[in-house]
Amino acid sequence: MPTSLDAMCRFSTTYAQRTNTFFCIDSSVTAVVIEGLARHKDTYGAPLCPCRHYDDKKLEVENAYWNCPCVPMRERKECHCMLFLTEDNEFASQNQDINIEAIVDQIN
Ligand code: SF4
Repeated sequence: MPTSLDAMCRFSTTYAQRTNTFFCIDSSVTAVVIEGLARHKDTYGAPLCPCRHYDDKKLEVENAYWNCPCVPMRERKECHCMLFLTEDNEFASQNQDINIEAIVDQIN
């Protein structure tokens, strides 16, 4: 059975390609965010954005606004976690593909 980390990794690759956005030149940023999304998916059943503070994570998951891809990303391609960067962002790489081994490497 695929793990949440694997699922979020696949989601990130597909979503970057679909939205024509790119991962950060610092791949540890990408890895940490994907790992955070996977952790929330495991704990709360949805990939709540890992880069924000919440008083009540369960409530936030129900509200869905910050479930990835969040509303700002869907509406305006704004990802404050720097997971999905538009081409003109100075931190954008040319990469839209990341695999689970690379993430595990970065996290360790
Ligand atoms: Fe996902 Fe939005 Fe968080 Fe970016 S800012 S990781 S798109 S939830």
